[in-house]
Amino acid sequence: MSRIYEITERVASYAPASDIDTINRAYVFAAHAHAGQRRNSGEAYISHPLAVADILASLSMDSATIVTGLLHDTVEDTSVTLADIEQHFGADVAGLVDGVTKIGKISFSSREQKQAENFRKMILATAKDLRVLIVKLADRLHNMRTLGFMPEHKRQAIGIETLEIYAPLAHRLGIHWIKQEMEDLVFSYLETDAYKALMSEMQGRLGGLNQTRERLESLIQKALLRQGLKAKVQGRMKHLYSIHEKMQRKHVDFEEIFDLLAFRVIVEDMTVCYQALGIVHSLYRPVPGRFKDYIAIPKPNGYQSLHTVVIGPENFRIEVQIRTESMHFYAEDGVAAHWAYKEGGNEDQDSFTWLKQLTDLLKETDNPGEMLEDVRLDLFVREVYVFSRDGDIYPLPRGARPLDFAYAVHTDVGQHCVGVRINGEVADFSCRLKNGDQIEVMTSPDQTPSRQWLQYVKTPRAKQSIRQWFRRQEHDSSLRLGEKILYQTLGVKDVAADVLKQCGCEDVKALKIRLGRGELAVHALLAAAPNKGASLRRLMGMKGATMQAAECCHPIPGDTVLGQLSGSEGMVLHHFKCHAVSEGKKQQDWIEVDWQSQSGALFKTGIEVRSRNRRGMLANVTRSIADSGSSIEDLKLNQRGGSMSLLLFLIDVEDRVHLAHVMRAIKSVEGVVKVERRNAVGLSGKKESRALGETLRDFFASRKTSASKTSASKTSASNPRQEKE
Ligand code: MN
Repeated sequence: MSRIYEITERVASYAPASDIDTINRAYVFAAHAHAGQRRNSGEAYISHPLAVADILASLSMDSATIVTGLLHDTVEDTSVTLADIEQHFGADVAGLVDGVTKIGKISFSSREQKQAENFRKMILATAKDLRVLIVKLADRLHNMRTLGFMPEHKRQAIGIETLEIYAPLAHRLGIHWIKQEMEDLVFSYLETDAYKALMSEMQGRLGGLNQTRERLESLIQKALLRQGLKAKVQGRMKHLYSIHEKMQRKHVDFEEIFDLLAFRVIVEDMTVCYQALGIVHSLYRPVPGRFKDYIAIPKPNGYQSLHTVVIGPENFRIEVQIRTESMHFYAEDGVAAHWAYKEGGNEDQDSFTWLKQLTDLLKETDNPGEMLEDVRLDLFVREVYVFSRDGDIYPLPRGARPLDFAYAVHTDVGQHCVGVRINGEVADFSCRLKNGDQIEVMTSPDQTPSRQWLQYVKTPRAKQSIRQWFRRQEHDSSLRLGEKILYQTLGVKDVAADVLKQCGCEDVKALKIRLGRGELAVHALLAAAPNKGASLRRLMGMKGATMQAAECCHPIPGDTVLGQLSGSEGMVLHHFKCHAVSEGKKQQDWIEVDWQSQSGALFKTGIEVRSRNRRGMLANVTRSIADSGSSIEDLKLNQRGGSMSLLLFLIDVEDRVHLAHVMRAIKSVEGVVKVERRNAVGLSGKKESRALGETLRDFFASRKTSASKTSASKTSASNPRQEKE
């Protein structure tokens, strides 16, 4: 078991200026939090965070990362909260712990399982600070080292996840030894027999291999020295999993694998790398096509080195990597090397910010585009990855908004969505989702989509679902309307086949829908079924929401209305005195409709309020409207000369009863002289009715199109015909 003083001593050795006190404090804090908890091995739980911190120290990480290693399981597994962490260890550490906790919540056994690459991208994108990933890798590495204590059935899942997700991540971040150790551990647990067999084969040849290694080390070393080059030459055995993989890939036995050895030549500077390469190639024949210059063209993860394969003694193929000391650091520890304290423990080091790190990385690479892509994938991937409240991941296109998420969860969730919380806070439908957002959808069975939603969705799925809903609504209401028209015209619910044929309809349902949509005129139906001598004069009991109120006269349920079927909008209702009725085409098309209110369905209507000019008058009137359960759609204020004001409101009401209630409320406001329904006045049978109807519509229409043009409203307000009234 790692000891805290060993860790702090190690940190102090590579970074004398670091905050050892805080590391000690984090240890005590974590030990308290995990008190009484045990690992599967039976050890005290604190042994795990200690081991993780130890791994992080071996990567020479900064003290914030070491502290995070000690605290990384406290929020997930104990009563400690993020707020506690922030209070005791600051926002930087709290942010890191939060990131590690979030990644830990991602469940690999979800349906995203198949897309391992997506998954890796998602993890990269979620971890806003790469130190989060490094802590996570250290965490997983220790869990892998102790996998033997896990129940059999869990080993499999954890092993596969490690192999498919975490080892490639370590590779991507350039932390090679973690990748290799993870792979060998997975290999030993998941393919125990193959592992043991390979192990014993290796053992058998170990003696010979070691001799070869030592001999070659000194041969290369001497050759370089003869040319005056100082170099460190290290031979090593390939790790077991890579040998195993090669045997699988090439379908060969162990005896046929020749490149069990790899050599590293570490020299002083870059130009020497190429000189050393020349010397190695003069010693042994290079294998054509195997030379790679990763110094001139670094790998996407920033790795730099010269690679070559030569045919050594006894026909051994030998891989040789040549690089400088700093390239070597990077090759071993990858991006972790960038958090390592530089020699001398510069004071700046503790305040390293992510941005500074990124710029440093960019400066050091010849290919900033690729480097950036690798480091900060969320700038490049076209998806954002968000979490449900339960921690499931949802990949959504960049620019997606809350309703896209709701529809991605389930169409029903989208359809009934009344609001969302993002990371615990109530958010607007118009906001854009960010990587790592945790989204909670609030639903209500009463909620239905609105057309406005179409502006707030990006995914085809959400768009289609919303449109489909409206199509279904239109279909249903047309069917209901057609049913009524049919029954109230002919007194039947079905018609004979020849009537259907004459109307060009396949079945009675199609007939009803076409009637409801106005695609089939009532007189055409009567012509097809003439024997009844019937006609449709009146539609009884029509519910508010299925009908459209005409914009010219703004009728509301309870008014005497006449309807006309219009192809796209269904039944459009006009006030019976609207000019559209008297001037409309064929009188036979007008149907008297008994229009009833329906709770929740609102209709616009105009009212005019005359009042004395008083401070706060407008506020009082608008409050009285709101208090009586109505809302203002539009409003015009016309200050008449002198002491009177004329207010014109377009308000939403359910029906005439509701309107009367609103008008009474306005009348009771002090200073209000007169309240009238504007369209009703206009339709009262006086001569100017048409002009008023138009004025109202034109006025509100002009306000909508040119909100800033006050002159437009003045013109219509001073309409001479209006003055007469
Ligand atoms: Mn852990």
